[in-house]
Amino acid sequence: METSNEKDVKLTKGSRTLVKCMVCGEIFDSALENCPVCGVGSDFFSPVEVEAVEYKKNTEEVFVILGNGAAGVSAAEAIRERNETAVILMISNEAVISYNRPMLTKSLSTLTDVKEIAIHEENWYERNRIQNILNSQVKSIDVENKKVILEDGTQIVYDKCIYALGAECFIPPFNGAGKPRVIAIRNIADVNKIREMKSNVKNVVVIGGGVLGLEAAWEMSKSAAVTVLEVADKLMVRQLDDAAGTLMGEIIQGVGIQFRINAKIVEITGGDTVSGVKLESGEIYPADLVIVSCGVRANTNVASQSGITIDRAVVVNEKMETNAKDIYACGDCAVYNGVNYAIWPQATEMGKVAGANAAGDLLEYQQVPAALTFEGMNTALYAAGDNGKLPSKAYQTIEYRDDEKKMYEKYYFLQEKLVGAILIGDTSKMIAVGEALKEGCSYQKMRKQ
Ligand SMILES: Cc1cc2nc3c(=O)[nH]c(=O)nc-3n(C[C@H](O)[C@H](O)[C@H](O)COP(=O)(O)OP(=O)(O)OC[C@H]3O[C@@H](n4cnc5c(N)ncnc54)[C@H](O)[C@@H]3O)c2cc1C
Repeated sequence: METSNEKDVKLTKGSRTLVKCMVCGEIFDSALENCPVCGVGSDFFSPVEVEAVEYKKNTEEVFVILGNGAAGVSAAEAIRERNETAVILMISNEAVISYNRPMLTKSLSTLTDVKEIAIHEENWYERNRIQNILNSQVKSIDVENKKVILEDGTQIVYDKCIYALGAECFIPPFNGAGKPRVIAIRNIADVNKIREMKSNVKNVVVIGGGVLGLEAAWEMSKSAAVTVLEVADKLMVRQLDDAAGTLMGEIIQGVGIQFRINAKIVEITGGDTVSGVKLESGEIYPADLVIVSCGVRANTNVASQSGITIDRAVVVNEKMETNAKDIYACGDCAVYNGVNYAIWPQATEMGKVAGANAAGDLLEYQQVPAALTFEGMNTALYAAGDNGKLPSKAYQTIEYRDDEKKMYEKYYFLQEKLVGAILIGDTSKMIAVGEALKEGCSYQKMRKQ
């Protein structure tokens, strides 16, 4: 970890002092107290020098970016850093400029204006001559004639197109899932809906006990009674092992949030509104608001209609090229080497590579580590890598726990190399653990630490 002297160093880009979050890799203004992506505090920030881009080529090309999320903005930045004169258009069906999507659940109880979580202020786009086309639905791409076609019939000719349409929440087809008081949080409009109904919400059911479900549960528990329903046999099933899942259950209950595992939901009850969530067992959990957090599906429709290869997401190579000439893809909608974690650091890195290559530079995408953090419920959690998920493998483990203090530290090894880690209660080691994972630290070395 950096020393306080190093933290005092002032490094600027334009008028801003920038820092890097050592947990998720996001680079942002040092004035922020928490990372806008993963939410960790300034103990995990380090001053950062922005890499100088050497490749420069000014052209009159038109770059059309579909989607203004993390990947789209990162691609726009990468293009403008290399090409000062090209036209850059960024199209979104949302009504607002790009924002830090992960903050939607992390600040659900406090967020009042999307400007609070904007990635860049409005005048940044003017200064960088990036034209936002908002409230516009992309309908299709005419790959042969290099045109993007919008729902209202507008046609936009491109030289290079970046497909960054992200993902949408998956809502399982329960009876009643279409009711207005059943909300999956993907964009600011979803948060606004929750805010508008909040004053008459007494009971909330969150469907899905993954990290985003737990973030939403924690935020909603500040003003309502909350129950989390999880279909699997533990919470955060993708990231935690059995002991950690059980501990998270205790922590959740300790702050007054109820949860139920093995919850097979059959119906969301209540005529036009919502009165509860019914399980196969017949139990009904009362609710006047249901928040669904059951994972995401890549937005592939526009690409697949245009003949672009899809394998659950848009298939890209290491340069983020799709099979269609001059069309790149990045972010939650893209899959490289069979992997799509749908996380922010992956979207920004893919966006950077897509934008740089579209501008004529040569960058290869390096897979980002799958790590997550959670802060809330009077605890903190960090989970990364493979935490014993492959039953066919013989893992070695190192475990330290203190049940009274609700602390858990566990390391998973395959062939003597560190492949996964879970920290609950005390996450102060997470940067060191992240580094150890990157280098595949040995079992012997970790035992000595
Ligand atoms: C509530 C929440 C919390 C999260 N927390 C974390 C976290 O803590 N850490 C982490 O790493 N990741 C987190 N994520 C995931 C992270 O936010 C995503 O991986 C990232 O935002 C993906 O960026 P993207 O640019 O690929 O896609 P998106 O951000 O989805 O952007 C795509 C944009 O394209 C628009 N669009 C889609 N279809 C069309 C169309 N046909 N026409 C026009 N526009 C269209 C969408 O509306 C959207 O604005 C979270 C996600 C959510 C929803």
